[in-house]
Amino acid sequence: MSAQNEDWKQKYRELALEIEDTQSQFQKQEGLLNQIIGSMVLGLEGEDAKLDLELNELRAGLTQGGNGSTLGRVSKSLDKQIRRRDESREKQSKSILKAVQRWIRQLRYSTEEQHIHNLLDACEQRSKKLTEAAYELPALLTDLVELQAGMSAEQPEPSAENTTPTRTISETEDSSEEQRRLLQAVATELTMLLTGLPLSDQEADESRDLLRRIDEGIALADLPSMLRQIISLVGKSNGKGDEEFETYLLDLSSQLSEVESFIKESHHEQQSIGENQRKLDIQVRSNVQQLHETVKSSHDLKELKMAVAGKLQHVVQAMDDFKRDEDERETRLQERYENLLEKVEQMEQETREVRAHMEAEKARATTDALTGLPNRAAYDERIAEEVARWQRYQTHFSVAVGDLDFFKRINDTYGHLAGDKVLRLIAKVVKLKLRGSDFVARYGGEEFVILMPSTGATEAHQAVDKIRQAVAKSPFNFHGKPVTVTMSFGVSESKEGDNEESLFSRADEMLYKAKANGRNQAVIG
Ligand code: GH3
Ligand code: MG
Ligand code: MG
Repeated sequence: MSAQNEDWKQKYRELALEIEDTQSQFQKQEGLLNQIIGSMVLGLEGEDAKLDLELNELRAGLTQGGNGSTLGRVSKSLDKQIRRRDESREKQSKSILKAVQRWIRQLRYSTEEQHIHNLLDACEQRSKKLTEAAYELPALLTDLVELQAGMSAEQPEPSAENTTPTRTISETEDSSEEQRRLLQAVATELTMLLTGLPLSDQEADESRDLLRRIDEGIALADLPSMLRQIISLVGKSNGKGDEEFETYLLDLSSQLSEVESFIKESHHEQQSIGENQRKLDIQVRSNVQQLHETVKSSHDLKELKMAVAGKLQHVVQAMDDFKRDEDERETRLQERYENLLEKVEQMEQETREVRAHMEAEKARATTDALTGLPNRAAYDERIAEEVARWQRYQTHFSVAVGDLDFFKRINDTYGHLAGDKVLRLIAKVVKLKLRGSDFVARYGGEEFVILMPSTGATEAHQAVDKIRQAVAKSPFNFHGKPVTVTMSFGVSESKEGDNEESLFSRADEMLYKAKANGRNQAVIG
């Protein structure tokens, strides 16, 4: 029994020692943890008032031995505060990034030196990483400052005294932003004008080239040559010279020169700000210098007071003058700018109107009033295009001439109005039976002409024959009686040496043959 007792005692002692050991290790770790938290708290303090309050509470909690529930609450709230701080840091770093990129852009505007542009490109690349690596910011800023210092050193000094203040970012940015907006408006204007022009293939290539250049961005220096090119294109597109359009173009061109002169002038004005500030600076400096001298040489307090007051008066006067000049300049510039914008808007409106008018005129001039089909003038234009395309790309095509059979009889029997109705209905049937890529015009009287791109004579003959059958089957009723109307066709296919006239006259000859052979048929030549 006593041996058993001894054994228990021994075990109890060993257990007590073990607990003591664990406890002391635990205390050591707790101390270490407190130390670590303490250092972290110190690191976080001073960034945010709310966060500081939480940190104080946490520190108090730790020194008092840490009550579980207080620590739990504080830890939760800390977590929230830290997340809030992270968000505000992110916002901050985004605005830093924006400012840096704006600065880089500004520096780009100030020079055309390629090597500086390359350096700026590299800085811009680096700036993109700032949101993740904020520690890169000081180095990047230093590089930019040096780059800018280098750039200012390269620029010629306005006078021996280096008193010209550096132009602020917003000032130059405003001016280039204005230029950009104006040029943008001009570009839209020209694009609208160009896309509205009816042009031949060759001119269309030229117009596309111009549109591409406009799209890439117009530089002021390019404007005059571009305008000349556009005016010549417009001349070609209009051929006979529409007086109204010419006046509009002249107007457009003079308005554009106004835009150009405004931009040049505003650049000049920007330079004069520097000049005004420099004058003010010299005036103030010289007054202060004189004050120093008066103070040094004066023995009488009253005389000194009066001198100081006089000089100060000069300084205030100089500053007032400067401010007034600046205000006037700004108002002047602003007025002109607004006026110009108004003009550009007006130009846009005029362009839209002239374009709509031109389109309507063109449509009227090329449409047959009775049937609504394109007329002979439209055909002449289309056939010229088709022949040019064929000569360039060897894309063969066919021409068909159709004529109503014994139409005179219809007029004579049922009257001219009935004849008109027949013409309208025939036009519908023909149009309906053709493919979308084909073209049909009323050539004159009861004669129609059809253009079939990329179509050989056999295929064209089949297509025309379908129309012929459809016309013959169309149910015309006059005074309740069904009347059959038929049509004859002559077809020709483009071949070596052909031109507009030869193609048409071959088709016309075939039409004659069809008539001679008994009508209501299509003949290929
Ligand atoms: P063919 O089979 O030989 O072509 O005989 P046709 O009678 O059709 O030919 P012709 O050239 O002798 O007569 C064509 C007629 O078409 C004469 C003209 O009065 C008529 N015509 C021409 N234009 C119009 C029009 O706009 N409306 C009407 N109603 N008739 C028209
Ligand atoms: Mg006829
Ligand atoms: Mg005829």
